Amino acid sequence: MPKALKQLLRPVAWFGWIPLIVVVSSVFVVDIFLPTVLPHLGASLEEGLYYVSTVNCLILLPCMFFSYYHVTKIRRRVKAHDFSLCLNCGYPLKGLVTHGHCPECGSSYEADNVRQSWVQWLGPVNCN
Ligand SMILES: [Zn+2]
Repeated sequence: MPKALKQLLRPVAWFGWIPLIVVVSSVFVVDIFLPTVLPHLGASLEEGLYYVSTVNCLILLPCMFFSYYHVTKIRRRVKAHDFSLCLNCGYPLKGLVTHGHCPECGSSYEADNVRQSWVQWLGPVNCN
């Protein structure tokens, strides 16, 4: 994976941990917390499960939306630069010579390899 893509995906990578934390904490809540607390509240297990599911959806749906939005934004940016962003730093290389060094970070590049790498990692970009 290009280093530039890793940097661009960093905010989404953090959001990837949230579903794991939600699922693990839900197991804890359903197995231990609900059977202990619900009888004192006079609520049934079904009501408890309903509230846990609702909270999970309220947490997970924004995470999914943000991840989709962020990845779409990255794909649009890469497409706007004709898949010619430096693999190391993300600097736009479009319009520069086909072989050379990135003016921003100094890493060497070959335009065809750069384009091929971005297409390989992002797939065919059909976003508008
Ligand atoms: Zn660079």
